[in-house]
Amino acid sequence: MGSVTPEQSAVFRKMLLSLPKAEIHLHLEALITVESLWKLRQKNALNYQGVQTKEDLYKKFNISTLNEFIDVFINIIQNSFKTEDDFSYLLEDAGKYLKNNNIVYAEVFFAPTKFIKSGFSFPQMIETLTNGARLIQQKYGIELKYLIDVSRTFGVDNAMANLNLTLEYRTDAILGIGLGGTESSPAKEYAAVYQKAREYGLHVVAHSGEDMGPEAVWDVIQFLQPERIGHGISAAQDKKLVDYLAERRIPLEICPTSNLFTRKYVSKIEGHPVKLFYDNNIFVTINSDDPTLFSTTLVDEYMLLYTNGVFSAAETAALLKNNIYASFMPAEKKDALWAENKKLLTAGTVDC
Ligand SMILES: [Zn+2]
Repeated sequence: MGSVTPEQSAVFRKMLLSLPKAEIHLHLEALITVESLWKLRQKNALNYQGVQTKEDLYKKFNISTLNEFIDVFINIIQNSFKTEDDFSYLLEDAGKYLKNNNIVYAEVFFAPTKFIKSGFSFPQMIETLTNGARLIQQKYGIELKYLIDVSRTFGVDNAMANLNLTLEYRTDAILGIGLGGTESSPAKEYAAVYQKAREYGLHVVAHSGEDMGPEAVWDVIQFLQPERIGHGISAAQDKKLVDYLAERRIPLEICPTSNLFTRKYVSKIEGHPVKLFYDNNIFVTINSDDPTLFSTTLVDEYMLLYTNGVFSAAETAALLKNNIYASFMPAEKKDALWAENKKLLTAGTVDC
């Protein structure tokens, strides 16, 4: 594949924008814009260390490690919310992000721990988020579903407490649970949380292999049996694991720019293991993870892979299809959404 001209790139972006897409690895809190955070800072009279101006705040988002990222995520973003109505900034930004990318279906993580610790009521937050999803549906016709990130950063008791709250206050906007946060806390400890979630009919997914090696991915598979794995990029170091993921059709939620930021396993896009995964028949999906933190969008992620020659137009179409089919949408909705894409792609002469 040769290099892509600016004209080809513009045509491709337009094509991507025209397609109704699904995104399945995205953190709600990371959809808030820096502008909204600045407003919340003024409104709630907040003080962030080293932040005097809006420019300072933008600089804080220059992340280079996973721990730095977790720090900004928890101590700046989540800490900016002081009252229930602050969530309206977040939901408004989320709606705009989805609309601007022509994402018609999204599964979005929400991590309640920090908010609960700050005194927010879980049932009230769930009600606000559920109403927010309803508003986005009414306003834009976009379906927004939540996965509650029970969290790996605050220990297993906290994760179990989050699961119990999720089960008690579940609404039809909630699909299941996820496990984000630091990977140093062993997956084995969370086995009972996942077992219980499955017993109660929740979908289960888990981050893994973003910051730790393939053995961490094996652990998550063995102890948590997630339906999808978030990142999983260190799996590229283990051929057996690559084969296993391909055979079992376990989808990987790949977030290229996020991996370039945290720099643990990827230093340049051309060397991203997503290509190896794709070539080895792994069920690969493409996602943005944390748009505000990484200054990216779902469309940008596909563009990054296309313009750098990682994936062709036809391969991009296959990836768009994977996002739809790896989601937790009912089968007939998946078929309908892909049929709509196929029609548009055929009209645009992309081979799918
Ligand atoms: Zn993530």
